[in-house]
Amino acid sequence: MKKTPIFENSYSQLPKKFYRKIAPSSVKAPSTIVLNYPLAHQLGLEYNWFDSAAALNILSGNHIASGSEPISQTYAGHQFGHFNPNLGDGRAVLLGEFTSPAGNRYDLQLKGCGRTPFSRQGDGRAPIGSVIREYIISEAMAALDIPTTRSLAAIASGESVYRQQLLPGAILSRIAPSHIRIGTFEYSALKGDIESVRLLADYTIKRHFKTLLQSQNRYLGLLQKTIELQAQLIAQWQGMGFIHGVMNTDNILICGATIDYGPCAFMDQYKADQVFSSIDTTGRYAYNQQPSIGQWNLVCLAQTMLPLIHQDIHQAIDMAQQAINTYPVQYEDAYQKIMRNKLGLAQKRPENQQLASELLHIMGQYQLDFSLCFRYLTDLIGQDNPSHEPQTGLFQPPAALLKWIEKWQWLLQQEQVQQSGRNTERLVKMKSANPAFIPRNHQIEIVIRAAEDQLDFKPMHQLLAVLAEPKEYRAQNKDYALAPLPHQKIVKTYCGT
Ligand code: AMP
Ligand code: MG
Repeated sequence: MKKTPIFENSYSQLPKKFYRKIAPSSVKAPSTIVLNYPLAHQLGLEYNWFDSAAALNILSGNHIASGSEPISQTYAGHQFGHFNPNLGDGRAVLLGEFTSPAGNRYDLQLKGCGRTPFSRQGDGRAPIGSVIREYIISEAMAALDIPTTRSLAAIASGESVYRQQLLPGAILSRIAPSHIRIGTFEYSALKGDIESVRLLADYTIKRHFKTLLQSQNRYLGLLQKTIELQAQLIAQWQGMGFIHGVMNTDNILICGATIDYGPCAFMDQYKADQVFSSIDTTGRYAYNQQPSIGQWNLVCLAQTMLPLIHQDIHQAIDMAQQAINTYPVQYEDAYQKIMRNKLGLAQKRPENQQLASELLHIMGQYQLDFSLCFRYLTDLIGQDNPSHEPQTGLFQPPAALLKWIEKWQWLLQQEQVQQSGRNTERLVKMKSANPAFIPRNHQIEIVIRAAEDQLDFKPMHQLLAVLAEPKEYRAQNKDYALAPLPHQKIVKTYCGT
């Protein structure tokens, strides 16, 4: 028997200003590009349903499942520092929520499913390239243990979309713990509508932070939780060389998952102020700006909640400010821990911190490949371990790095003297912190070319299979670990909307 997921629609219990009812527009000839079976299983979706024509109809927007009351969500947001009060899902429809066997509630949203009341000049559609990019990178992020929205399916629409040229269209099924953004709070606070902010905050607390219901000041608690999650998330991005590219407040989820894979990219060569996005002309969202932009965004959230935090505005500002002031400390703590894991060091010592920044300096100076360099260090730790496969021959350390390695090994040894027998544990942590396979830009480009030009999805499936197990190097997948050749290098990425 084929069982459709049982949809709930709790977000629609909020006042009407938070959403518009809108059905997805149907498409001509939907066909499957990829279905994410492991994710479907984890979410408790039945195989027989997920694999069926009925599911294809629902995930392409051609049929509305019973119980689903589709909506587009309203939000505002600061885009590149400028406030835009009227954003909202211009090309996405939330089909509803459902609960996984583990008891977690998820949104199922279709992206690229036609015009909505928020589409403005846009067509509400998505070209196949942007859907494939989001699918690959979001699933790679999940395999790297970075909180993220997930991709349940990519469906070709059988229609064309126009983006300077005609391109095949596609629809992504996106799964998220929720789609409540900082921009949703900014929207609710428009015109001083405090009651709406309170309703949204209460909804968010019930959905994500139930323990706060017992706390004395649940709204301050909500701000603190969001700060904590952003600090952790952005530290993880930095640790993997991930550049989001559009950290506008409408692209920041309160639940702390990465969302909106537009012009994002993983760095190949290390460059502290690396930017890929074609629209980020000032470098506002450069790699080394991400931590401080995180704080800037949190201030936007705090401003919407001041009247809820305390009735006296001065006290409210003080309390919010104190919470915001913990962000740099929490971020730095999380980041340093990640850097220690990357270097196989356990102890929180100034020497270890100094060592990490010296390494980044050398990497910048010699334009070393971020992932290959850290994996090279991992291989040095794993060299006596017969079950560890090294990425032989992929990385040539410059003399300055060899010198740095001497110092590193000396600090590693010091830790070993105090706590013996931890090399295996060290290797496991390093492999996880320094993956062998990241979704490299030029590989994604190869996959998109095949899909766009020939509707050939085999390269995508191959790349996805490699990225699903990023922590173990396998020589047969060597090509996917390699840095791009000069002619393969992607220097600019596009929103792809
Ligand atoms: P993004 O850059 O994806 O964060 O999108 C910013 C805003 O533009 C959001 O309100 C989107 O819904 C909207 N948008 C992006 N692409 C389209 C499109 N093709 N049609 C309609 N709205 C869009
Ligand atoms: Mg967005």
